[in-house]
Amino acid sequence: SNIGALDQIKKVLSKYIIEPIRFPDRKMLNYSSGIGILLYGPPGCGKTLLINAAVKESGANFIFIKGPELLNKFLGESEKGIRLIFSRAKMLDPTIIFFDEFDSVASKRENSHEITNSASNDRIVNQLLTEIDSIEKDKSIYFIGATNRPNSIDKALLRPGRIDKILAVPYPNLEGKILILKTIFKKGNHLPYLNLNLFVDSLKNNFTGADLNLAYKEASIDSIRTSVEYFLFNSSKKGIFIDRTMIIGTKNLHYGIYKIILNRKTKGQYV
Ligand code: ATP
Repeated sequence: SNIGALDQIKKVLSKYIIEPIRFPDRKMLNYSSGIGILLYGPPGCGKTLLINAAVKESGANFIFIKGPELLNKFLGESEKGIRLIFSRAKMLDPTIIFFDEFDSVASKRENSHEITNSASNDRIVNQLLTEIDSIEKDKSIYFIGATNRPNSIDKALLRPGRIDKILAVPYPNLEGKILILKTIFKKGNHLPYLNLNLFVDSLKNNFTGADLNLAYKEASIDSIRTSVEYFLFNSSKKGIFIDRTMIIGTKNLHYGIYKIILNRKTKGQYV
């Protein structure tokens, strides 16, 4: 419920991750319930948010790895890190292993040009393949990667049995953006009659969920400013009740969205 739009992906995660973990007695004969999934799409569109939600909903153990953290300049250390992750995952079963910035550890083996880099990249990918293939059928290991660069992932990792599903998490469309704003708005106070359809024009920009979250933050900060002004104005007229609750109104949200657009147009000159 904290994620706006992305209904198809939520359904897939629910069907293939949350339900099998929550109802383990429904295990399939001769098939492991675990699965490999790759989420790809532009930054800020909700990949990490989706996986965090799946972890919470399922109650599984969670191993979260930022891909670049695994890279180690010392020979064999990165592979050792990968072996450790999978052996922990097997011990903790059911486990969700989430590799954010997956491309940094799974890039195509012919991709790296520098000889030393290429050799270490090959070893890391080979280790990942070995570990994924070594997951026994009775283990519930859910292996998930997220990336902004799906084309750079090694093809051998992308075959069914290793990564079974490849899911796009794209920029939200207009309807999606309104749904995301509604979700974000659940977090705080806003005018009950705030009509999000008033923002349709400004929402035609290519916003991500992260942009909308920032617009909301700007709107909240602006609402503090307007409520302080309101306080000063009223306090000069003694005896009038002053309500200092911060509520976001239409103007505040317009301001928040406008700030994001202007910041982008001026390439960071306007902050
Ligand atoms: P990156 O590729 O850079 O890791 P990401 O796709 O993993 O990005 P998230 O970290 O999931 O992006 O999203 C960033 C923030 O944007 C979230 O913490 C959330 O506040 C907001 N956000 C993104 N998508 C949504 C959504 N669909 N509903 C509500 N909030 C969203």
